[in-house]
Amino acid sequence: MKLSEHRMIFWRAVNLLFRLERSFALCVMFNAFFASVIQYIPIYFSAKLIDAIWKGAEKKEILWYIVLTVGLTFLLNLLLTLCRVVENIKTTNIYREREWMYSKKEMEMEYSRIESREIALLLERIRMESQTGYNLYYLYTSVRMLVRHITSIIASLSLIASFFTLNSVPLFLKLILMAGIMVTVLYMVYATAKEETINQEFWKQCVNLNLLGERYSNIVGDYEMGKDIRLYGMEEKIAEDNLRTDMEFYGDYIKKDKKCLMLFLPSVLFSHLLRCGVYMVLIMAVMAGNVSVGSIAKYVSCIMLLLDAISGMVGTLQRVFANNHYLKRFFSYFDIQNKMYQGSLTVEKRLDNEYDVEFRNVSFRYPNTENYALRHVNAKFKVGKKLAVVGENGSGKTTFIKLLCRLYDPTEGEIFLNGVDIRKYNYDEYLSIFSVVFQDFTLFSFTIGQNVAAAKEYEKARVEECLRRAGFGERLDTMPEGTDTYLYKDYSEKGIEISGGEAQKIALARALYRDAPFIVLDEPTAALDPISEYEVYSKFNELSGEHTTIYISHRLASCRFCDSIVVFDEGRIIEQGSHEELILKKEGKYYELWNAQAQYYVSTPEVANKA
Ligand code: ADP
Repeated sequence: MKLSEHRMIFWRAVNLLFRLERSFALCVMFNAFFASVIQYIPIYFSAKLIDAIWKGAEKKEILWYIVLTVGLTFLLNLLLTLCRVVENIKTTNIYREREWMYSKKEMEMEYSRIESREIALLLERIRMESQTGYNLYYLYTSVRMLVRHITSIIASLSLIASFFTLNSVPLFLKLILMAGIMVTVLYMVYATAKEETINQEFWKQCVNLNLLGERYSNIVGDYEMGKDIRLYGMEEKIAEDNLRTDMEFYGDYIKKDKKCLMLFLPSVLFSHLLRCGVYMVLIMAVMAGNVSVGSIAKYVSCIMLLLDAISGMVGTLQRVFANNHYLKRFFSYFDIQNKMYQGSLTVEKRLDNEYDVEFRNVSFRYPNTENYALRHVNAKFKVGKKLAVVGENGSGKTTFIKLLCRLYDPTEGEIFLNGVDIRKYNYDEYLSIFSVVFQDFTLFSFTIGQNVAAAKEYEKARVEECLRRAGFGERLDTMPEGTDTYLYKDYSEKGIEISGGEAQKIALARALYRDAPFIVLDEPTAALDPISEYEVYSKFNELSGEHTTIYISHRLASCRFCDSIVVFDEGRIIEQGSHEELILKKEGKYYELWNAQAQYYVSTPEVANKA
């Protein structure tokens, strides 16, 4: 990385810190400044005091030095405590703000990128590095250290300047002393740089391990998975795998720490040798009678503090440079652009609901996969029509819907809404014309009303109406708190558990509440019992009203209610037409699937009659 890039990243990060919590950042700087200055007050005034006593000065002068030492130390301590209190209070804010930055980015990131392994690994590495003390939070530490060391260097140099002008200390000794300081500092520079390389290598190599470890804790923490873990006795296998990952991680961690420790042993030796040298030189100077007694402690302390400050400063700068590499990754994640959101056309809100959609030669591959999930798909449908999408599992039905709703963009080909490529529309506006219930829909641990409205505030009567239309009415009537009843127990002790079928009805009500021109139902009855399934089928026309309804199902009985049926096979549309047309093609896939399922219905006559 070039110096200009280092500078740019550093200032961008400092700017961000001030934006996150200005008072915290200021307190960090003042804290570092006071903490550094406070070391020099006793050193400076003690030398003055000893010299005053030595010279037999007046009591008033002696008392004045004592008052100044104690008073100034007290005042600075008071300011330090104040800064620490503010820092402690604001620390939680900083963490919260930072976590929110991640959450916000994750929520705003386009869906297709969430699945990208590249992005998952980048995010994991950034998060892992944050836990090691690097990254954005480390910048507080480096700013703190920089302010502290710079203050110390300035204070030490101004207090020991007179030492280098002492005639009683021979020039060669002064030069040896300076060379000693240089060697110690240079070794510190080398050791810090080497430590940095070792650390970087280590964190790079264990990203995968950490990701694995995190997945194990997710499995254990997920109460849905808890059922299968218990029933199939998977505890031992999970514990064993988890332990193996942990052992591998900690084994490498200990090796890395040992290497770093060995690296710093010589620097401890150098600084102690230097300390010895300084004492010897000063004792010689005192014996020559050229240095005041009070100055001995001042010079020794200041030279040691200077040494610490210089090596600390160099080390901090090294870490700032290393941290810039992490920050570059950190910013690269937050700089990921949402390409899908670049369209700007508004979606015409047509009162006549006249929308038509066309897939023109659309092919699609999921990120990081080789095989095409959709191949050369051509389809056209109009609002107000009921379209059924059928086919065996894995034939591409859900993918077709995901493309229609722009969760992904086609790898090849185009999709048009009213003759315009859907990529040209404003993303949020385009999404607003769809109400979708996916097979793997999510209900949140909020109230039923909030789940249906997908918002904090909602129209109670309309929510109730949608729930009843979706077949949830009877269950709703048993709930004393009605639509204000919480789902699950995460946020309310009184929260209720619901069956898969009930969850599906709530999800259906959510799609109805949105009242968008397109309703897309992906296997809407998969979790329902045959009776409820029949209810949804028979109310299907009423449920969808004037809306275009796209209905994905592998139960063909439901398709008879639709105007048009498209049959998917291995990512292609192989047949298209009404039930009556398709059933006549004895060689066709639809006919084959229909007959396979008709046998099933025959063996359960009750349902077969209803279907
Ligand atoms: P259907 O809805 O007909 O059951 P899908 O559209 O879900 O089929 O899947 C079509 C193909 O795409 C399958 O081969 C499936 O394995 C693959 N697929 C589905 N989702 C993903 C994904 N997120 N990443 C990679 N491949 C996927």
